[in-house]
Amino acid sequence: MKHPFSRCLLGLCLLALGLEGAERPNLIVILADDLCYADVGFNGCEDIPTPHIDRIAAEGVRFSSAYVTYPVCGPSRAGLITGRYPQRFGFERNPQYRPGDPQMGVPLSEETLADVLKKVGYTSGVVGKWHLGAHASLHPLERGFDFFFGHLGGGHRYLPEELVIRRSEEAEDEWQSYRTWILRDHEPVAATQYLTDEFSDAAVEFIHAHPESPFFLFLSYNAPHAPLQATERYLARFPEIENPRRRTYAAMVSAVDDGVGRVLEALRELDLEEDTLVVFLSDNGGPEAANASDNGPLRGGKGDVWEGGFRVPMALRYPAAVKAGKTFSAPVSALDIFATIAALSDAPIAPARPLDGVNLLPFLTGDHAGSPHEAIYLRKFDQQQFALRGGDFKLVIPERGTAPKLFRPDQDLGETRDLAAAHPAVVSDLQTRLDAWTAELIDPVFLGLMYRREAAINEKKKKQNTAP
Ligand code: CA
Repeated sequence: MKHPFSRCLLGLCLLALGLEGAERPNLIVILADDLCYADVGFNGCEDIPTPHIDRIAAEGVRFSSAYVTYPVCGPSRAGLITGRYPQRFGFERNPQYRPGDPQMGVPLSEETLADVLKKVGYTSGVVGKWHLGAHASLHPLERGFDFFFGHLGGGHRYLPEELVIRRSEEAEDEWQSYRTWILRDHEPVAATQYLTDEFSDAAVEFIHAHPESPFFLFLSYNAPHAPLQATERYLARFPEIENPRRRTYAAMVSAVDDGVGRVLEALRELDLEEDTLVVFLSDNGGPEAANASDNGPLRGGKGDVWEGGFRVPMALRYPAAVKAGKTFSAPVSALDIFATIAALSDAPIAPARPLDGVNLLPFLTGDHAGSPHEAIYLRKFDQQQFALRGGDFKLVIPERGTAPKLFRPDQDLGETRDLAAAHPAVVSDLQTRLDAWTAELIDPVFLGLMYRREAAINEKKKKQNTAP
Protein backbone atom coordinates (compact mmCIF):
# COMPACT_ATOMS: atom_id res chain seq x y z
CA MET A 1 0.00 0.00 0.00
CA LYS A 2 1.33 3.45 -0.79
CA HIS A 3 1.94 5.49 2.34
CA PRO A 4 -0.48 8.45 2.53
CA PHE A 5 2.36 10.84 3.36
CA SER A 6 4.25 9.76 0.25
CA ARG A 7 1.16 10.27 -1.86
CA CYS A 8 0.91 13.73 -0.36
CA LEU A 9 4.55 14.49 -1.18
CA LEU A 10 4.08 13.26 -4.72
CA GLY A 11 0.99 15.41 -4.99
CA LEU A 12 2.91 18.47 -3.84
CA CYS A 13 5.66 17.78 -6.36
CA LEU A 14 3.15 17.38 -9.15
CA LEU A 15 1.39 20.55 -8.02
CA ALA A 16 4.73 22.38 -8.22
CA LEU A 17 5.17 21.03 -11.73
CA GLY A 18 1.65 22.11 -12.65
CA LEU A 19 0.51 18.51 -12.96
CA GLU A 20 -1.93 18.29 -10.08
CA GLY A 21 -4.80 15.88 -10.13
CA ALA A 22 -2.87 13.03 -11.65
CA GLU A 23 -1.87 9.84 -9.91
CA ARG A 24 0.48 8.51 -12.49
CA PRO A 25 0.63 4.78 -13.07
CA ASN A 26 3.81 2.77 -12.94
CA LEU A 27 5.01 1.53 -16.31
CA ILE A 28 6.83 -1.65 -17.25
CA VAL A 29 7.88 -2.62 -20.76
CA ILE A 30 9.30 -6.14 -21.04
CA LEU A 31 11.08 -6.83 -24.29
CA ALA A 32 12.28 -10.27 -25.34
CA ASP A 33 14.97 -10.64 -27.99
CA ASP A 34 14.41 -12.73 -31.12
CA LEU A 35 11.42 -14.47 -29.54
CA CYS A 36 9.03 -15.22 -32.36
CA TYR A 37 5.30 -14.84 -32.71
CA ALA A 38 4.43 -18.49 -32.27
CA ASP A 39 6.68 -19.29 -29.30
CA VAL A 40 4.46 -18.04 -26.47
CA GLY A 41 1.51 -19.86 -24.99
CA PHE A 42 -0.96 -17.09 -25.80
CA ASN A 43 -0.20 -17.53 -29.49
CA GLY A 44 -0.58 -21.28 -29.36
CA CYS A 45 2.90 -22.58 -28.53
CA GLU A 46 2.62 -26.14 -27.26
CA ASP A 47 6.12 -27.27 -26.34
CA ILE A 48 7.23 -24.25 -24.25
CA PRO A 49 4.86 -23.30 -21.42
CA THR A 50 4.91 -19.53 -20.72
CA PRO A 51 2.34 -19.21 -17.92
CA HIS A 52 3.55 -15.85 -16.62
CA ILE A 53 3.79 -14.16 -20.01
CA ASP A 54 0.37 -15.64 -20.78
CA ARG A 55 -0.98 -14.09 -17.59
CA ILE A 56 -0.33 -10.62 -19.03
CA ALA A 57 -2.51 -11.52 -22.00
CA ALA A 58 -5.17 -13.36 -19.98
CA GLU A 59 -5.55 -10.52 -17.49
CA GLY A 60 -5.32 -7.86 -20.19
CA VAL A 61 -5.15 -7.77 -23.96
CA ARG A 62 -3.50 -10.02 -26.50
CA PHE A 63 -2.57 -8.25 -29.74
CA SER A 64 -2.79 -10.71 -32.59
CA SER A 65 -1.39 -8.30 -35.23
CA ALA A 66 1.42 -6.41 -33.52
CA TYR A 67 4.35 -5.12 -35.56
CA VAL A 68 7.73 -3.72 -34.63
CA THR A 69 9.39 -1.03 -36.74
CA TYR A 70 12.21 -3.19 -38.06
CA PRO A 71 12.94 -6.92 -38.35
CA VAL A 72 16.27 -6.83 -36.46
CA CYS A 73 17.19 -5.73 -32.95
CA GLY A 74 18.78 -2.28 -33.03
CA PRO A 75 16.38 -0.26 -35.22
CA SER A 76 13.38 -2.02 -33.65
CA ARG A 77 14.54 -0.92 -30.21
CA ALA A 78 15.32 2.60 -31.47
CA GLY A 79 11.69 2.84 -32.65
CA LEU A 80 10.32 1.55 -29.37
CA ILE A 81 12.37 3.91 -27.19
CA THR A 82 11.72 7.07 -29.28
CA GLY A 83 8.16 6.37 -30.38
CA ARG A 84 9.20 7.26 -33.92
CA TYR A 85 10.09 5.29 -37.01
CA PRO A 86 13.87 4.86 -36.71
CA GLN A 87 14.10 5.41 -40.47
CA ARG A 88 13.23 9.06 -39.75
CA PHE A 89 16.52 9.61 -37.92
CA GLY A 90 18.84 7.29 -39.81
CA PHE A 91 18.92 4.37 -37.35
CA GLU A 92 18.25 1.84 -40.06
CA ARG A 93 21.01 -0.69 -39.48
CA ASN A 94 22.06 -2.82 -36.55
CA PRO A 95 24.76 -0.72 -34.88
CA GLN A 96 28.28 -2.01 -34.47
CA TYR A 97 29.79 -2.12 -31.01
CA ARG A 98 31.94 1.02 -31.12
CA PRO A 99 32.49 2.80 -27.80
CA GLY A 100 34.56 5.44 -29.65
CA ASP A 101 31.85 6.45 -32.11
CA PRO A 102 29.21 8.97 -30.93
CA GLN A 103 27.25 8.55 -34.18
CA MET A 104 26.66 4.81 -33.69
CA GLY A 105 23.35 4.91 -31.83
CA VAL A 106 20.17 6.94 -31.29
CA PRO A 107 21.10 10.54 -32.20
CA LEU A 108 21.01 13.05 -29.37
CA SER A 109 18.43 15.02 -31.35
CA GLU A 110 15.87 12.34 -30.38
CA GLU A 111 14.18 12.03 -26.98
CA THR A 112 13.71 8.67 -25.31
CA LEU A 113 10.67 7.53 -23.38
CA ALA A 114 12.70 8.03 -20.19
CA ASP A 115 13.51 11.62 -21.26
CA VAL A 116 9.85 12.60 -21.57
CA LEU A 117 8.78 10.72 -18.43
CA LYS A 118 11.45 12.53 -16.41
CA LYS A 119 9.58 15.77 -17.16
CA VAL A 120 6.52 14.47 -15.31
CA GLY A 121 8.33 13.08 -12.30
CA TYR A 122 9.13 9.50 -13.23
CA THR A 123 12.17 7.52 -12.18
CA SER A 124 13.31 5.26 -15.02
CA GLY A 125 15.47 2.17 -15.12
CA VAL A 126 16.66 -0.05 -17.91
CA VAL A 127 17.74 -3.60 -17.21
CA GLY A 128 19.40 -5.85 -19.80
CA LYS A 129 20.32 -5.14 -23.39
CA TRP A 130 20.80 -1.51 -24.49
CA HIS A 131 22.06 -1.68 -28.10
CA LEU A 132 21.26 1.99 -28.71
CA GLY A 133 24.85 3.24 -28.61
CA ALA A 134 28.03 2.21 -26.76
CA HIS A 135 29.63 5.69 -26.75
CA ALA A 136 29.67 7.48 -23.37
CA SER A 137 27.29 10.17 -24.70
CA LEU A 138 24.72 7.48 -25.64
CA HIS A 139 24.80 5.59 -22.32
CA PRO A 140 21.35 5.01 -20.75
CA LEU A 141 22.13 7.48 -17.94
CA GLU A 142 22.63 10.16 -20.63
CA ARG A 143 19.32 9.24 -22.25
CA GLY A 144 16.89 9.94 -19.44
CA PHE A 145 17.35 6.78 -17.38
CA ASP A 146 18.25 6.93 -13.69
CA PHE A 147 19.37 3.33 -13.39
CA PHE A 148 21.09 0.87 -15.69
CA PHE A 149 22.00 -2.74 -15.12
CA GLY A 150 22.98 -4.48 -18.31
CA HIS A 151 25.22 -4.53 -21.36
CA LEU A 152 25.64 -1.90 -24.05
CA GLY A 153 25.98 -4.17 -27.10
CA GLY A 154 23.69 -6.25 -29.25
CA GLY A 155 23.92 -9.53 -27.37
CA HIS A 156 25.67 -11.28 -24.53
CA ARG A 157 26.87 -14.64 -23.37
CA TYR A 158 24.80 -16.03 -20.53
CA LEU A 159 27.22 -17.93 -18.30
CA PRO A 160 29.08 -15.77 -15.76
CA GLU A 161 32.38 -17.61 -16.21
CA GLU A 162 32.41 -16.54 -19.88
CA LEU A 163 32.18 -12.82 -19.06
CA VAL A 164 35.89 -12.12 -18.81
CA ILE A 165 36.39 -8.56 -20.12
CA ARG A 166 36.07 -6.25 -17.15
CA ARG A 167 35.84 -2.89 -18.89
CA SER A 168 33.24 -2.84 -21.65
CA GLU A 169 35.01 -0.01 -23.50
CA GLU A 170 37.96 -2.36 -24.02
CA ALA A 171 35.91 -4.80 -26.09
CA GLU A 172 37.23 -4.36 -29.61
CA ASP A 173 34.41 -5.85 -31.62
CA GLU A 174 30.90 -7.22 -31.44
CA TRP A 175 31.96 -10.68 -30.28
CA GLN A 176 34.21 -9.39 -27.53
CA SER A 177 31.35 -7.17 -26.38
CA TYR A 178 29.39 -10.39 -25.67
CA ARG A 179 31.97 -11.24 -22.99
CA THR A 180 32.12 -8.02 -20.97
CA TRP A 181 31.19 -7.63 -17.35
CA ILE A 182 27.76 -6.21 -16.69
CA LEU A 183 27.45 -2.49 -16.05
CA ARG A 184 25.63 -1.20 -13.00
CA ASP A 185 25.19 2.41 -14.07
CA HIS A 186 28.84 3.03 -15.07
CA GLU A 187 30.43 0.46 -12.76
CA PRO A 188 31.48 -2.97 -14.10
CA VAL A 189 30.17 -5.78 -11.92
CA ALA A 190 30.87 -9.50 -12.14
CA ALA A 191 27.78 -11.58 -12.85
CA THR A 192 27.44 -14.53 -10.50
CA GLN A 193 24.52 -16.39 -12.07
CA TYR A 194 22.80 -17.14 -15.38
CA LEU A 195 22.41 -13.76 -17.07
CA THR A 196 18.64 -13.91 -17.48
CA ASP A 197 18.32 -14.52 -13.73
CA GLU A 198 20.68 -11.61 -13.04
CA PHE A 199 18.41 -9.34 -15.06
CA SER A 200 15.25 -10.62 -13.39
CA ASP A 201 16.83 -9.96 -9.99
CA ALA A 202 17.79 -6.43 -11.00
CA ALA A 203 14.28 -5.74 -12.30
CA VAL A 204 12.68 -6.88 -9.06
CA GLU A 205 15.23 -4.86 -7.09
CA PHE A 206 14.36 -1.75 -9.11
CA ILE A 207 10.63 -2.19 -8.48
CA HIS A 208 11.17 -2.65 -4.74
CA ALA A 209 13.43 0.41 -4.64
CA HIS A 210 10.72 2.70 -6.03
CA PRO A 211 7.42 1.77 -4.41
CA GLU A 212 6.45 5.36 -3.68
CA SER A 213 7.28 7.16 -6.90
CA PRO A 214 5.92 6.57 -10.36
CA PHE A 215 8.51 4.48 -12.15
CA PHE A 216 9.22 3.27 -15.65
CA LEU A 217 11.08 -0.01 -15.96
CA PHE A 218 12.37 -1.13 -19.36
CA LEU A 219 13.22 -4.79 -18.82
CA SER A 220 15.13 -5.57 -21.97
CA TYR A 221 16.14 -9.23 -21.91
CA ASN A 222 18.79 -10.30 -24.43
CA ALA A 223 17.20 -13.78 -24.33
CA PRO A 224 16.42 -15.89 -26.26
CA HIS A 225 18.89 -14.29 -28.73
CA ALA A 226 21.87 -16.50 -29.63
CA PRO A 227 24.20 -17.87 -28.30
CA LEU A 228 22.05 -20.76 -27.20
CA GLN A 229 22.99 -21.24 -23.55
CA ALA A 230 20.94 -22.38 -20.59
CA THR A 231 21.47 -23.91 -17.18
CA GLU A 232 20.30 -27.32 -15.97
CA ARG A 233 17.64 -25.68 -13.84
CA TYR A 234 15.78 -24.65 -17.00
CA LEU A 235 16.91 -27.43 -19.33
CA ALA A 236 15.49 -29.99 -16.91
CA ARG A 237 12.00 -28.67 -17.64
CA PHE A 238 12.15 -29.97 -21.22
CA PRO A 239 13.19 -33.64 -21.19
CA GLU A 240 10.69 -34.38 -23.97
CA ILE A 241 12.22 -31.97 -26.52
CA GLU A 242 14.63 -34.10 -28.52
CA ASN A 243 16.31 -31.42 -30.64
CA PRO A 244 19.04 -30.13 -28.28
CA ARG A 245 18.99 -26.66 -29.82
CA ARG A 246 15.23 -26.33 -29.49
CA ARG A 247 15.53 -27.67 -25.95
CA THR A 248 18.05 -24.96 -25.04
CA TYR A 249 15.91 -22.29 -26.70
CA ALA A 250 12.91 -23.54 -24.70
CA ALA A 251 14.96 -23.34 -21.51
CA MET A 252 15.97 -19.75 -22.34
CA VAL A 253 12.34 -18.73 -22.98
CA SER A 254 11.32 -20.45 -19.76
CA ALA A 255 13.89 -18.41 -17.82
CA VAL A 256 12.43 -15.22 -19.29
CA ASP A 257 8.96 -16.44 -18.32
CA ASP A 258 10.12 -17.00 -14.74
CA GLY A 259 11.46 -13.45 -14.71
CA VAL A 260 8.12 -12.08 -15.93
CA GLY A 261 6.47 -14.03 -13.12
CA ARG A 262 8.81 -12.50 -10.57
CA VAL A 263 8.09 -8.99 -11.84
CA LEU A 264 4.34 -9.59 -11.56
CA GLU A 265 4.84 -11.05 -8.10
CA ALA A 266 6.81 -7.96 -7.01
CA LEU A 267 3.90 -5.78 -8.14
CA ARG A 268 1.50 -7.94 -6.11
CA GLU A 269 3.67 -7.72 -3.00
CA LEU A 270 3.73 -3.91 -3.24
CA ASP A 271 0.03 -3.68 -4.04
CA LEU A 272 0.84 -2.11 -7.41
CA GLU A 273 -0.82 -4.68 -9.67
CA GLU A 274 -3.91 -2.60 -10.37
CA ASP A 275 -2.19 0.68 -11.26
CA THR A 276 0.76 -0.60 -13.24
CA LEU A 277 0.78 -0.87 -17.01
CA VAL A 278 2.75 -3.93 -18.12
CA VAL A 279 3.50 -4.55 -21.79
CA PHE A 280 5.29 -7.60 -23.12
CA LEU A 281 6.62 -8.00 -26.66
CA SER A 282 9.55 -9.23 -28.73
CA ASP A 283 11.88 -6.96 -30.71
CA ASN A 284 11.67 -8.94 -33.98
CA GLY A 285 10.71 -12.28 -35.44
CA GLY A 286 12.54 -15.52 -34.84
CA PRO A 287 15.78 -16.34 -36.68
CA GLU A 288 14.82 -19.99 -36.88
CA ALA A 289 18.26 -21.23 -37.99
CA ALA A 290 20.18 -19.22 -35.39
CA ASN A 291 18.20 -19.93 -32.23
CA ALA A 292 15.84 -22.82 -33.08
CA SER A 293 12.78 -20.60 -32.70
CA ASP A 294 9.64 -21.51 -34.62
CA ASN A 295 7.70 -18.86 -36.50
CA GLY A 296 4.79 -21.24 -36.91
CA PRO A 297 2.48 -20.20 -39.71
CA LEU A 298 4.29 -16.95 -40.49
CA ARG A 299 6.34 -16.60 -43.67
CA GLY A 300 10.03 -15.79 -43.23
CA GLY A 301 11.84 -14.78 -40.07
CA LYS A 302 14.17 -12.22 -38.54
CA GLY A 303 15.41 -9.76 -41.13
CA ASP A 304 12.46 -10.25 -43.49
CA VAL A 305 9.70 -7.92 -44.56
CA TRP A 306 7.43 -10.98 -44.48
CA GLU A 307 5.25 -11.36 -41.39
CA GLY A 308 7.84 -13.63 -39.77
CA GLY A 309 10.27 -10.73 -39.64
CA PHE A 310 8.37 -8.04 -37.82
CA ARG A 311 5.08 -9.42 -36.52
CA VAL A 312 5.68 -10.21 -32.85
CA PRO A 313 3.92 -11.55 -29.77
CA MET A 314 2.54 -8.65 -27.73
CA ALA A 315 0.26 -8.36 -24.70
CA LEU A 316 -0.70 -5.56 -22.32
CA ARG A 317 -2.04 -5.67 -18.79
CA TYR A 318 -3.50 -2.60 -17.05
CA PRO A 319 -6.36 -3.59 -14.77
CA ALA A 320 -7.08 0.02 -13.73
CA ALA A 321 -8.51 0.73 -17.19
CA VAL A 322 -8.45 -2.35 -19.39
CA LYS A 323 -10.70 -5.35 -18.87
CA ALA A 324 -9.23 -8.82 -18.88
CA GLY A 325 -9.42 -11.37 -21.64
CA LYS A 326 -9.56 -9.31 -24.80
CA THR A 327 -7.96 -10.16 -28.15
CA PHE A 328 -7.28 -7.07 -30.23
CA SER A 329 -6.92 -8.05 -33.86
CA ALA A 330 -6.53 -4.70 -35.63
CA PRO A 331 -2.89 -3.99 -36.52
CA VAL A 332 -0.91 -2.17 -33.83
CA SER A 333 2.69 -1.03 -33.69
CA ALA A 334 5.40 -1.14 -31.04
CA LEU A 335 5.39 2.64 -31.61
CA ASP A 336 2.03 2.73 -29.86
CA ILE A 337 3.66 1.87 -26.54
CA PHE A 338 5.35 5.28 -26.36
CA ALA A 339 2.18 7.10 -27.49
CA THR A 340 0.02 5.21 -24.99
CA ILE A 341 2.42 5.86 -22.12
CA ALA A 342 2.81 9.53 -23.06
CA ALA A 343 -0.97 9.97 -23.02
CA LEU A 344 -1.38 8.08 -19.77
CA SER A 345 1.32 10.04 -17.98
CA ASP A 346 0.68 13.45 -19.58
CA ALA A 347 4.28 13.50 -20.74
CA PRO A 348 4.95 16.44 -23.08
CA ILE A 349 5.91 15.65 -26.67
CA ALA A 350 8.00 18.17 -28.60
CA PRO A 351 6.20 19.39 -31.74
CA ALA A 352 9.48 19.03 -33.65
CA ARG A 353 9.45 15.29 -33.02
CA PRO A 354 5.87 14.10 -33.50
CA LEU A 355 5.20 10.54 -32.42
CA ASP A 356 4.34 7.93 -35.02
CA GLY A 357 2.31 5.76 -32.65
CA VAL A 358 -1.27 5.93 -31.42
CA ASN A 359 -2.60 5.94 -27.85
CA LEU A 360 -4.21 2.50 -27.71
CA LEU A 361 -6.16 2.94 -24.49
CA PRO A 362 -9.35 4.40 -26.03
CA PHE A 363 -9.41 1.46 -28.44
CA LEU A 364 -8.90 -1.03 -25.63
CA THR A 365 -11.57 0.46 -23.40
CA GLY A 366 -14.04 0.64 -26.29
CA ASP A 367 -14.24 4.47 -26.34
CA HIS A 368 -12.93 4.41 -29.90
CA ALA A 369 -14.09 1.82 -32.36
CA GLY A 370 -12.12 0.68 -35.35
CA SER A 371 -8.46 0.43 -36.17
CA PRO A 372 -5.78 2.66 -34.62
CA HIS A 373 -3.69 2.82 -37.81
CA GLU A 374 -4.38 3.60 -41.45
CA ALA A 375 -1.03 2.06 -42.21
CA ILE A 376 2.03 0.55 -40.57
CA TYR A 377 5.25 0.87 -42.56
CA LEU A 378 8.60 -0.83 -42.97
CA ARG A 379 11.61 0.06 -45.09
CA LYS A 380 14.96 -1.73 -45.23
CA PHE A 381 17.16 0.85 -46.90
CA ASP A 382 20.15 -1.31 -47.84
CA GLN A 383 18.01 -4.05 -49.36
CA GLN A 384 15.34 -1.67 -50.76
CA GLN A 385 12.70 -3.96 -49.30
CA PHE A 386 9.38 -2.56 -48.12
CA ALA A 387 6.15 -3.53 -46.44
CA LEU A 388 2.96 -1.68 -45.59
CA ARG A 389 0.11 -3.10 -43.53
CA GLY A 390 -3.01 -1.10 -44.24
CA GLY A 391 -6.38 -2.37 -43.07
CA ASP A 392 -6.88 -5.96 -44.12
CA PHE A 393 -4.17 -5.77 -46.80
CA LYS A 394 -0.42 -5.86 -46.81
CA LEU A 395 1.75 -4.57 -49.62
CA VAL A 396 5.17 -6.24 -49.82
CA ILE A 397 8.23 -5.55 -51.94
CA PRO A 398 10.35 -8.49 -50.84
CA GLU A 399 13.20 -7.96 -53.31
CA ARG A 400 14.88 -4.82 -54.63
CA GLY A 401 13.23 -3.45 -57.73
CA THR A 402 10.48 -6.07 -57.97
CA ALA A 403 6.77 -5.43 -58.41
CA PRO A 404 4.78 -5.16 -55.20
CA LYS A 405 2.82 -8.15 -53.99
CA LEU A 406 -0.45 -7.95 -52.10
CA PHE A 407 -1.65 -10.24 -49.32
CA ARG A 408 -4.45 -10.49 -46.77
CA PRO A 409 -2.64 -11.49 -43.57
CA ASP A 410 -5.96 -11.66 -41.68
CA GLN A 411 -6.98 -14.58 -43.92
CA ASP A 412 -3.61 -15.78 -45.15
CA LEU A 413 -1.09 -15.57 -42.33
CA GLY A 414 1.53 -17.38 -44.42
CA GLU A 415 1.35 -14.83 -47.28
CA THR A 416 0.87 -17.54 -49.87
CA ARG A 417 -1.71 -15.94 -52.20
CA ASP A 418 -0.57 -12.82 -54.07
CA LEU A 419 -3.68 -10.72 -54.75
CA ALA A 420 -1.93 -7.87 -56.59
CA ALA A 421 -3.43 -8.72 -59.98
CA ALA A 422 -6.93 -9.01 -58.50
CA HIS A 423 -6.83 -5.64 -56.67
CA PRO A 424 -4.81 -3.14 -58.73
CA ALA A 425 -6.55 -0.15 -57.12
CA VAL A 426 -5.56 -1.32 -53.65
CA VAL A 427 -1.98 -1.83 -54.79
CA SER A 428 -1.92 1.65 -56.26
CA ASP A 429 -3.37 3.25 -53.13
CA LEU A 430 -0.98 1.49 -50.78
CA GLN A 431 1.99 2.24 -53.03
CA THR A 432 1.08 5.94 -52.99
CA ARG A 433 0.99 5.90 -49.19
CA LEU A 434 4.27 4.03 -49.02
CA ASP A 435 5.92 6.55 -51.35
CA ALA A 436 4.63 9.46 -49.25
CA TRP A 437 6.02 7.90 -46.07
CA THR A 438 9.35 7.06 -47.70
CA ALA A 439 9.70 10.68 -48.82
CA GLU A 440 9.77 11.71 -45.13
CA LEU A 441 12.76 9.47 -44.31
CA ILE A 442 16.49 10.06 -44.39
CA ASP A 443 19.32 7.73 -45.39
CA PRO A 444 21.04 5.69 -42.65
CA VAL A 445 23.51 7.80 -40.65
CA PHE A 446 25.93 5.08 -39.56
CA LEU A 447 27.52 1.98 -41.06
CA GLY A 448 25.92 -0.99 -39.37
CA LEU A 449 27.08 -4.48 -38.48
CA MET A 450 26.99 -5.51 -42.15
CA TYR A 451 29.64 -2.89 -42.85
CA ARG A 452 32.17 -3.81 -40.17
CA ARG A 453 34.99 -4.08 -42.68
CA GLU A 454 34.25 -0.77 -44.42
CA ALA A 455 33.94 1.00 -41.07
CA ALA A 456 37.28 -0.41 -39.86
CA ILE A 457 38.98 0.82 -43.06
CA ASN A 458 37.44 4.29 -42.65
CA GLU A 459 38.61 4.45 -39.06
CA LYS A 460 42.14 3.45 -40.04
CA LYS A 461 42.20 6.12 -42.76
CA LYS A 462 40.95 8.71 -40.29
CA LYS A 463 43.69 7.79 -37.83
CA GLN A 464 46.35 7.99 -40.58
CA ASN A 465 45.10 11.40 -41.67
CA THR A 466 45.23 12.80 -38.15
CA ALA A 467 48.58 11.19 -37.26
CA PRO A 468 51.30 13.75 -36.49
CA1 CA B 1 16.32 -9.12 -31.66
